[in-house]
Amino acid sequence: MQIVTTIRETRQIIHNASREGKTIGFVPTMGSLHEGHLSLIRRAKTETGFVVVSIFVNPTQFGKDEDFETYPRNLDRDAALSESAGADLIFCPDAGEMYPKGFQTYVEVAEITTGLCGAARPGHFKGVTTVVAKLFNIVKPHKAYFGQKDAQQAAVIEHMVRDLDMDLDIVRCPIVREPDGLAMSSRNVYLSARERNAAVVLSQSLFQAEEMIRQGIRDASEIRQYIASVIQKEPLAQIGYVEVVNAVSLKKVDFIAGQILIALAAKFGNTNLIDNLCIEV
Ligand code: AMP
Repeated sequence: MQIVTTIRETRQIIHNASREGKTIGFVPTMGSLHEGHLSLIRRAKTETGFVVVSIFVNPTQFGKDEDFETYPRNLDRDAALSESAGADLIFCPDAGEMYPKGFQTYVEVAEITTGLCGAARPGHFKGVTTVVAKLFNIVKPHKAYFGQKDAQQAAVIEHMVRDLDMDLDIVRCPIVREPDGLAMSSRNVYLSARERNAAVVLSQSLFQAEEMIRQGIRDASEIRQYIASVIQKEPLAQIGYVEVVNAVSLKKVDFIAGQILIALAAKFGNTNLIDNLCIEV
């Protein structure tokens, strides 16, 4: 496995792999890898011939009061984990390589970025789509792998790919959870022991809501209120949002039918956690 920091070298290595007839799989990450990321790399390894992992804490997707400076970084550990999961190349540029002086071009997906996480994080998805578009242009993957953990992000990327006629497949991979149900996240390391224990309420509330839907409840506001009431019983949790939306358009629904996404965000101390559940009825 090679580790490179420049766009030029990355292109050269991928060009050589393509010339050998290998299909290119791509897993964009911000590092601090866990089993969720590794599941994407392993999936890419089974479906493509050359797996590229990018590790870049992208400054343009962080708000000014967010955790860009403190976001956990550990390249040596990430490289070892990526290699063990099957990565062939790590691209880990610095901010100057991705955003040289004078940079002024952005990619913005409109409506679908306004709700859920987009409502509380203005500019976040513009940073995400801009960096992912740049990474797609650098890596030129046949397939790129994204986690359902960030369901809105995956939907936004799919929209961008469709709208801009980008020539690749987006593969969504299921959420990897801790044994007690907490969705794995690089941000979980910020949680104190008490917050970590409390955070399990998020997945529990979603699993209970899933059971209610399985038993026939179709009123979206009843589901929303139920989830909120479960989370509110946990004193360390501060709800950001709980929404029941169409899984493709991310528009709010009143009635549960078709492909539905139940998405939520809550803060534990200063740590913002998200989780979701996709259900077909
Ligand atoms: P990040 O490093 O947080 O930007 O995440 C990089 C990729 O890993 C994104 O596509 C995420 O959706 C995905 N990912 C993060 N956590 C998980 C998880 N628990 N399960 C599955 N995919 C995940």
